[in-house]
Amino acid sequence: MKTIIEPFRIKSVEPIYFTTKEERKKILAKADYNPFCIPAKDVLIDLLTDSGTSAMSSSQWAGIMLGDESYAGSSSFFKFEDSVKKITGMQYIIPTHQGRAAEKIIFTILGGKGKYFISNTLFDTTRANIEFSGAEGIDCLCEEGKYPNIPAPFKGNIDIDVLRKIIDEKGAANIPMVIITITNNSGGGQPVSMQNIKDTRRICNEYKIPLFIDACRFAENAYFIKLREKGYSNKSVPEIARELFSYADGCTMSAKKDAFANIGGFLAMNDPDLAVRCRNLLVITEGFTTYGGLAGRDLEAIAVGLQEVMEEPYLQYRIRSIEYLSNKLIAAGVPLMQPAGGHAVYLDAKSFLPHIPVDQYPGQSLVCALYEEGGIRSVEIGSLMFGKYDDKGKLIPSQMELVRLAVPRRVYTQSHIDYVAEVIIEVFNRRNEIKGLQITEEAPLLRHFTVKLKPVQEY
Ligand SMILES: *Cc1c(COP(=O)(O)O)cnc(C)c1O
Repeated sequence: MKTIIEPFRIKSVEPIYFTTKEERKKILAKADYNPFCIPAKDVLIDLLTDSGTSAMSSSQWAGIMLGDESYAGSSSFFKFEDSVKKITGMQYIIPTHQGRAAEKIIFTILGGKGKYFISNTLFDTTRANIEFSGAEGIDCLCEEGKYPNIPAPFKGNIDIDVLRKIIDEKGAANIPMVIITITNNSGGGQPVSMQNIKDTRRICNEYKIPLFIDACRFAENAYFIKLREKGYSNKSVPEIARELFSYADGCTMSAKKDAFANIGGFLAMNDPDLAVRCRNLLVITEGFTTYGGLAGRDLEAIAVGLQEVMEEPYLQYRIRSIEYLSNKLIAAGVPLMQPAGGHAVYLDAKSFLPHIPVDQYPGQSLVCALYEEGGIRSVEIGSLMFGKYDDKGKLIPSQMELVRLAVPRRVYTQSHIDYVAEVIIEVFNRRNEIKGLQITEEAPLLRHFTVKLKPVQEY
């Protein structure tokens, strides 16, 4: 088999800037060891997120020029609506400026004190919006999803038995929604199987609970189903996506992921009454129903991107490029989540830095080491992001301590990825020198965005 190449050529380039290790040490200290506070020009390879960082295609840029900026009923909205309907088959399509705006609307309406939302793993903004409404979010990830080093085909699956148990325990009347995140971002970008979605649907039917999909990476998930699930190898990605959405009552989506857009999102559903309530809230928070916080040109870019993302040469290259990085690291003995996820490589910081206790945030320490060594920006997905405190102020750690290297879509070439592997391996070879961090300042919600830290003092 020949090398799987990037299925595009480059029409416009953007320079990246080099810094020295000494400069990066100072930059890190100035950013209080929080990579969200590093100016982007000081980052060489930016793997902080795959969100809004995609390279748009020439067709998408052409769409930007076609954008109809009419306040109401713009032709760009109808293109957008058509594109979303074609993929999801859903009736009511509500544009929002990001995924979290869609979440804010739906959880404001369905959430509140005494309510529970159950998921495979809630993404951080999803959980924050649920909790902000007064409700509680419950993750029930399948057992195999909890062990980073043990490969399995669908580690993003929801645990069906635990799901049933939680519903019985909390009472179906108190559960406004089950929400499946595809692929499971916080759980390693691992896919969910069609069978698991069907099984979840069956349970939701039994208890009369609506099923929603957090669809940010629906195309990557659909492609994994094609590759790994029996009966799907001959189906096209749009067919698989359509089937997958057919089991859901609605979805939330960030167009900054699998729509190659730099901004945007939507809420889609089949319940007309719920759609009216969502639109009423949309008008006071986002904008009129045919633009919802977006410019006409953004709606155009999303409409085009949603179709492009389902092209198989793209998905083959996409999934393969993550696997390529993953395989290089595995060969060097670097502990990471296996198999490779759809959009990112997740280093297992607990095994990478076993000498750093969880309350000294091994994930964040590794994030800082990667930046210092090679100017690579990544993000901690562990106790800094998800940790809570008990009554005595002691850290309740997250299940896993991961470092995510998210790969922007269509942005970096193979040599960039080779460089990333070299830097990680270099850090791995001197891992014993890496020290823990302690928090000096933090916010009550989504603390990882603004947290300040410092290296742990030695006595
Ligand atoms: C990014 C993301 C969101 C939130 O979308 P934004 O556009 O960043 O607001 C929600 N869920 C998942 C799984 C995501 O990856």
